[in-house]
Amino acid sequence: MRCAVLLTLLGAVACAPSSTGAQVPPAATPAPAAPQAEPGRGIGDPDFPLDGNGGYDVTRYHLKIGYDPTAKHLNGLTSIQAKATQSLPRFNLDLSGFEVGKVEVDGAPARFERSGSELTVTPAKRLRENHAFTVTVAYEGTPKPVRDSSNLGTYGFIPTPDGAFVACQPNGAKTWFPSNDHPADKARFDFELTVPRGVTALANGEQTRQPVTNGGKTTFTWSEKHPMATYLATMTLGKFELRQGTTATGIPNLAAVDPQFASALDDLYATSGEVTDYWTKVFGPYPFSSTGGVIDDFAAGYALENQTKPMYGGFRPAESIIAHELAHQWFGNSLSVRRWRDLWLNEGFATYAEWLWSEHKGRASAESVFDGFYARPASDPMWTYPPGRALPDDLFNESVYTRGGMALHALRKAVGDPVFFKIVKEWTARYKYGYVTTPQLIALAEQLSGKQLDELFDAWLFEPRKPVLSSLR
Ligand SMILES: [Zn+2]
Repeated sequence: MRCAVLLTLLGAVACAPSSTGAQVPPAATPAPAAPQAEPGRGIGDPDFPLDGNGGYDVTRYHLKIGYDPTAKHLNGLTSIQAKATQSLPRFNLDLSGFEVGKVEVDGAPARFERSGSELTVTPAKRLRENHAFTVTVAYEGTPKPVRDSSNLGTYGFIPTPDGAFVACQPNGAKTWFPSNDHPADKARFDFELTVPRGVTALANGEQTRQPVTNGGKTTFTWSEKHPMATYLATMTLGKFELRQGTTATGIPNLAAVDPQFASALDDLYATSGEVTDYWTKVFGPYPFSSTGGVIDDFAAGYALENQTKPMYGGFRPAESIIAHELAHQWFGNSLSVRRWRDLWLNEGFATYAEWLWSEHKGRASAESVFDGFYARPASDPMWTYPPGRALPDDLFNESVYTRGGMALHALRKAVGDPVFFKIVKEWTARYKYGYVTTPQLIALAEQLSGKQLDELFDAWLFEPRKPVLSSLR
């Protein structure tokens, strides 16, 4: 869940060339590229042309990071295993701030240049197409989160008095590690996080060994074994109270709360477990190896579905929010958007999950929630914003959430419950750990229902007006 927008980059976005950035010309002489024409600057999301990078595919990040909350100093050694998808005389990583000390490719020193958030690496030898390579970047400094963007507030690596709150949607991973910072390049993650003794370091996935304390510092080792988008990575640090165990169906469950929220620990643990188990019945098998949640004391005013560990920024989450964030483990985290414009595939499903949870608990039915929203007058701004095309300067518009959820309810009404829930399960199974687009969902819904549904999806997702119910049911 994010209820806001990133604007800081928009100036850059607006004046950037509309290159897809996916092609690196085979330059015979690796001359320093002019900033405007730099190859590989962007993974090919036209709405966020500088996000991510082209020419390679990351398979694994190894993040070895030390952080001192008192000095607000971060010391990082990031190793990235990747495969060149074309011949590469050079390539880019995304990194914002920090001093870069050294860059190596396959163990050999590489040249590097920096321009804004782009770190351009020129290996000693051109990388051949399909060549698997490792790039290692040593860097240090004071992390600077993206601050006060108009709708998103503050995100990225956010120092707190006792550690850090780290929530990065849509492109804040670059504020703590060099990366291909776009959801279209997911990878496995290993974390080796060293903090002062007494501080807990939480990251995605599971701890692979017990924390080791040496010389007043403790190192925590975590691993996320499943593909993960960079914006879902976290290293949240601080004083935490923990509760660990398994859900009723046996999924490892870890809840962590800042001591200020100690009274919420048991609820967070129990509800996260109950919700995860219920979603496995509705959405299909849980895609990851553990579940849980974290309440930190940074008053972000939002929650984020960090993989395996949703984060609640300075508030005790209601059941509906936990239901939403854990639904994202299927919709958004296992199935990821290739382009941010398709964000309704994350937020529409997660919002609809809130209604399904309410219905499951015998509260308002999804139908009555839908009816409540549908009663809004035709002049309501939600009807003029088609959620199927999230706008880069208003990415997290309410329509992407609510009208996206309504689109799914309209589909449910059109095809009936048995087919609707079959579509949902087939959707999560067919594209598990992969990438999705709206045409793929429409095709699947039409295939499983045997109905022509383009008119329905068009009215709910792409028309700038309130859909007429009678013609669609
Ligand atoms: Zn959400």
